[in-house]
Amino acid sequence: MTVRVRFAPSPTGYLHIGGARTALFNWMFARKHGGQFILRIEDTDQSRTVPGAVEAIMAGLRWLGLDWDEGPDVGGEYGPYTQTERADLYRKWSDWLLAHDHAYKCFCTADELTEMREQQKAAKQSIGYDRRCRYLTPAQIAAKETAGLSHTIRFKMPLDGSTVIHDLIRGSIVFENTQITDNILLKSDGLPTYHLANVIDDHSMAISHILRADEWISTAPLHLNLYQAFGWQPPVFAHLPLVLNPSGKGKLSKRSQRFTDSGQEVLVKVEEFQEAGLLPETVVNFLANVGWSFGDDVEKFTLEEAIPRFELENINPAPSRLNYTKLDWLNGQYIQAMEPLALAQAVKPFLAAAGFEANPEALLLVMPPMSKRLKRLPEAVEFLRFLFDDAPYTVTAEQLQHKHLHPEAAKTAFEQAQEIVDTIDPFSVDNLGEALLKLGEQVTVNGKAGPFLGTMRLAMTGQKVSPPLFESLAAMGRERALARLDQVLAILG
Ligand code: GLU
Repeated sequence: MTVRVRFAPSPTGYLHIGGARTALFNWMFARKHGGQFILRIEDTDQSRTVPGAVEAIMAGLRWLGLDWDEGPDVGGEYGPYTQTERADLYRKWSDWLLAHDHAYKCFCTADELTEMREQQKAAKQSIGYDRRCRYLTPAQIAAKETAGLSHTIRFKMPLDGSTVIHDLIRGSIVFENTQITDNILLKSDGLPTYHLANVIDDHSMAISHILRADEWISTAPLHLNLYQAFGWQPPVFAHLPLVLNPSGKGKLSKRSQRFTDSGQEVLVKVEEFQEAGLLPETVVNFLANVGWSFGDDVEKFTLEEAIPRFELENINPAPSRLNYTKLDWLNGQYIQAMEPLALAQAVKPFLAAAGFEANPEALLLVMPPMSKRLKRLPEAVEFLRFLFDDAPYTVTAEQLQHKHLHPEAAKTAFEQAQEIVDTIDPFSVDNLGEALLKLGEQVTVNGKAGPFLGTMRLAMTGQKVSPPLFESLAAMGRERALARLDQVLAILG
């Protein structure tokens, strides 16, 4: 069997991290089996469609590296991949269901349905469509149509028996058919509901496995009955475990602010993860751990490493909480492993947002020391602030004192350092290192360069945390370094 799976978001907004997890598991499953991963846009509920949502969802998937083989933008032999462009197909099949006595026209108005529900509530009966139109005679139907009444089309659920869903993750789940109402398949505007469009598309797009969020389990018996009514072989079902809030209490909300009222950061949109300076490698690794595990207690792995091990049967059906505390650790690991050029490119947008148009060569010099310190990309701004911020120093004369460096010696040392910085050629990490090391050994009480180099690093960068001195100087460039030395000498009096 060819594996064909799909991610089928409704374009109601951004890409939610739970949706991204669904997409990731589909993608990994497709890649593992050499199958196809399809992106389908389920936009038949047009009142909920948000302009720009399709683009936002695609941008999120692309950022995560989850490429699709067929979809609205790339096409494919089973297209179109946007449901509102497939309306004729849904109408054709709902006519077919009507003709084969699996569906019926329902003329109930919204008011009648509300009244019905009120009565059911008052009588403490279970709420649901009471099937009154299911039993209309052909003459009654004809009369209503002649009167020009609009109608929906409802599915005729079997009135007894049960439906068993064989879920790859959860095993068999039995639903009593009497618990399931006659759902609307086609709305009065001629567009299908989710149920009809979803089943027709999964069948006509030759989807082999449905991997979707666990909130859809309750619709699975209806869907299975639809497959049976059509006489189609249903795909294999696998409902993925619920994604919980970091506290482990409650489903991860769709709320969009990045910080809770108590200041806790809860990232929900994929774009928030990006804004927070997490790498896509981190996010997919993090997500792969939600409900599935690599095994052998390994928490950091690439998707390439994960794919051969990925089995739907190993997904834990229990709800799984997002463990944000792992995010920064993971991200730090990925940053540390980055090549200087890749890291420079990754931090560039964050530097630019802070007003720092970095010189690429200078940036490369400070990437190796920086990669060991960063947990998130935006931290680069503070780490490298001395390279671009022209605000005056906050360093005091006291801070420039060291027990192994007398105040008078410090002043002379900085004057000599100024001479070196002014004349050394080329102005490189190695050259600066050699000359300043020698100077350091001469000016300290203990004859070791450390006290002077440490003091000079603080003096030049004005930061407790920064790259080491030689890289910092080389990245600053001669002019900026000299300007700073002037300030330092002024502080030292
Ligand atoms: N359109 C549904 C959603 O937004 C898809 C559910 C499914 O995968 O069947 O999640």
